[in-house]
Amino acid sequence: MTQCVHWRRVPLDLLRQARERSPSGHADPAVRCQLSEHRTGDHYGFLDDAEYATASWLRWSGDEAEPAVLADCPVTSAGTAWEGCCLFYGHGGRHTWDEDRSG
Ligand SMILES: [Zn+2]
Ligand SMILES: [Zn+2]
Repeated sequence: MTQCVHWRRVPLDLLRQARERSPSGHADPAVRCQLSEHRTGDHYGFLDDAEYATASWLRWSGDEAEPAVLADCPVTSAGTAWEGCCLFYGHGGRHTWDEDRSG
């Protein structure tokens, strides 16, 4: 799939929290939107895993950015190789395991 090309700097307070939660003390200072290409709607960058089956995301559009804890996407690939989706429940566009077949 073609991934959205938008990046966003992580707000300092969120970055500090992510580093405190991370076992390695590392967190990326900028995140890339993990959705497939989209023209409308918010962008979502992955921050870190939260509790079981949820993850922390940074949601933004324009200058506004806010943290969001979202449930994992439960949809898995139907092919021979089982693959889970790396996005969140109810996301738009394609799942991360979906190949670009549009040509
Ligand atoms: Zn995006
Ligand atoms: Zn998905």
